[in-house]
Amino acid sequence: MSLHEPNQPSQPNQPPKPPLPSSPPSPLPSPRTETLAVHPPQVRIPEGSRPLGVPLYQGHVFAFEEADTMAEAFEGGGAFLYSRLGNPTVRALEEAVTRLEGGAAGVSFASGMGAINAVLLGLVSTGGHVVAQRCLYGGTYAVLTDLAARWGVEVTYVSGDDPEEVRQALRPTTALLYLETVANPTTRVADLPALIAEARAAGVPSVVDNTFASPLLCRPLEHGADVVIHSATKYLAGHADVLGGVAVFRDAELHRRIWHYAVEQGATTDPFAAWLTLRGMQTLALRVERQCANALTLAERLATHPAVAAVRHPFLAGHPDHDTARRLLRAGGGVISFDLAGGRAAGRAFVEAVRLASLSPSLGDVKTFVMHPASTSHRQMDEATLTAAGIGPGTVRLSTGIEHVEDLWQDLAAALDQALKAA
Ligand SMILES: *Cc1c(COP(=O)(O)O)cnc(C)c1O
Repeated sequence: MSLHEPNQPSQPNQPPKPPLPSSPPSPLPSPRTETLAVHPPQVRIPEGSRPLGVPLYQGHVFAFEEADTMAEAFEGGGAFLYSRLGNPTVRALEEAVTRLEGGAAGVSFASGMGAINAVLLGLVSTGGHVVAQRCLYGGTYAVLTDLAARWGVEVTYVSGDDPEEVRQALRPTTALLYLETVANPTTRVADLPALIAEARAAGVPSVVDNTFASPLLCRPLEHGADVVIHSATKYLAGHADVLGGVAVFRDAELHRRIWHYAVEQGATTDPFAAWLTLRGMQTLALRVERQCANALTLAERLATHPAVAAVRHPFLAGHPDHDTARRLLRAGGGVISFDLAGGRAAGRAFVEAVRLASLSPSLGDVKTFVMHPASTSHRQMDEATLTAAGIGPGTVRLSTGIEHVEDLWQDLAAALDQALKAA
C-alpha cells in the first residue's frame, strides 16, 4: 500500500475506507461558521501510534464531563483543571527531574528563584530559624536577608565544611538547613553527607541547591537531603533560551505542602518553557560530559599561565575540597574560577577581550561564558566584603560550554595576553 494512497475507494464497487484520524463529533448538528471558528476540532490520536516527544499542552484550562470530577480537581486530585495547579507538559518535566534526582515527587517553577522562594517560605514561619551556607547564590542570600529583616526569621551562616559548626548552629526553632552542592564562584564543595546527618539527627530537613552539579554529577537525596532545588535555566535546559526551576522532594507529604504553597504563590512554569526544558534535558549527559572535560583541561592550562595567580576547580589537585569533591561528584563540573595576577584592571580587560566566550551572567550553557564579579555583579562591594565572599579583585568565573577545547584555549590565551598588558 502506498503512503500516499488517497482515502477513497480504489474501485467504484468497494466500500469506502474509514476516515483518517478522527475528530470528535461536533457538539451541534450544524454549527454556523462563527461557531466553528471558535471550536476547532481536536484530533484524537488513533490507537497504534503515539507522539514520540512530550506534547506541548499550551492551553491553561481543561474541560470536564462531570461536576464531581471537577470538584476533586479543585482539591488537587486526579484530573487537570487549570495550569497553575498542574499541566501535562509541566508534569512531564516534574516527573523527569524527579526521576533524575531519585525523589518521590517534584514541583516545577517559573525560575530557580521561584523554587527557592516557595521552598523557603513553605518551610519557615515568622520567628523561625535557618542554618545556611555562607557562600550562597546572590538571589538566595537576598531572600534570607529579607526574611530576616521583615519577617523575624533568624539566619545562622556556616562555612559548609564543618559538621560540628552545623550541630552548634541548630536550635529547637530551626526550620531547615540550606546548602549548595558547589558554591559560586568559589567552587567550594559542601560535605553534604556529614552536614546533612547533623540536621537529620535533630529532625531538621535539609535543602540542597544542586544547580552547579546537575543530577549527573551528584544526587543529594542519596546523601540524606530532603529537598533538591535546580535553576533549570542553567544545566538542565542548557541553551540560554528558557527560565525555569524545579524542586524535588524525598517524600510525598513535604511535596504536598510545598505544592500548595507554590499554587498560592503562582510562580508556575509556562508549558512552553517546560517543553523547551524537556527538549534540552535530552542532551544533558552529553553536554555535562563535554563541559566537565573542557573545564578540567582549561583549569590545568590556566594554572600554568603567567597572568594567572590561582585557579579553583574541584577536580584540580590542591583544591581545598578536592577529596570531598572526588567522593561526592562524578566529575568536577563546568565552572572554574581563577584570579588574575593583575587584579581588577586585568579582570576587566580579560572579560572584554574574549571573542568566542561571551561576557554573560549565566552558566551551564552550550556556549562558554565569563564574568568578572568585581566589576559587574559584585561592584558595590568593597575589597573586604569581596574577600569575605571568596572573591578577589581579579577573580574571573568561567562556565565552559561544549565548543572544541582548543578553540576555547586559543580565545582565553589571547584574552590573557590582554590582561597582562592591562595590569
Ligand atoms: C541561577 C541560579 C539560581 C536562580 O535561578 P533563576 O532560574 O535565575 O531564577 C539559583 N541558584 C543557583 C546556584 C543559580 O546558579
